[in-house]
Amino acid sequence: FQTKAVVLQNLVQEVAISFEPLGRAQKVRLEMDNPDEPIVISFDTKAFRRFFGNLVINAFDVLEPGGVVRVSSCLMSDGEIDQLFTGFPGQVVALSVSDNGPGIPRDQLDQVFLPFFTTKNKGTGLGLSIAHDIIEAQGGVLQVASEAGSGASFTAYLPVGDRPP
Ligand code: ADP
Ligand code: MG
Repeated sequence: FQTKAVVLQNLVQEVAISFEPLGRAQKVRLEMDNPDEPIVISFDTKAFRRFFGNLVINAFDVLEPGGVVRVSSCLMSDGEIDQLFTGFPGQVVALSVSDNGPGIPRDQLDQVFLPFFTTKNKGTGLGLSIAHDIIEAQGGVLQVASEAGSGASFTAYLPVGDRPP
């Protein structure tokens, strides 16, 4: 990993732009909702593209024309941070990629991060496992939430700051 200080919004924007042609072709919209204030994280930019791209590709895979991928980030409050990282001293940003696709059945939720778990005919089952490993290697946590029928949401919790945790 070549970890360095980067502005989260810039990374997100860059990856989102790279998916615009595919979004147009599939008639899927990519919506962004990030704070104006730049959020600095310590991350490997190549690894970020890989992690984030894997989440966006999965959303595109399940969406019908007219579907929406929503990318949002926000700083967390102290109480929320304590629930995830006990005693963590700094700020944490939550970065979510959500879609309004079919969602993930409850009994599959705890398997999606396992290597080779796939429900696709030609899936590798590696995208989420790699995304999970990247986030953990950079000191974060990746979680999934979904209600069957109303979409899936993946949230990465990342330490804020210009230094690796
Ligand atoms: P692959 O995309 O090759 O199947 P992944 O590791 O990227 O492998 O994803 C694993 C599985 O998790 C998928 O096959 C699918 O069942 C489920 N999944 C991932 N993202 C989504 C999503 N946005 N909506 C619904 N299911 C999803
Ligand atoms: Mg995938």
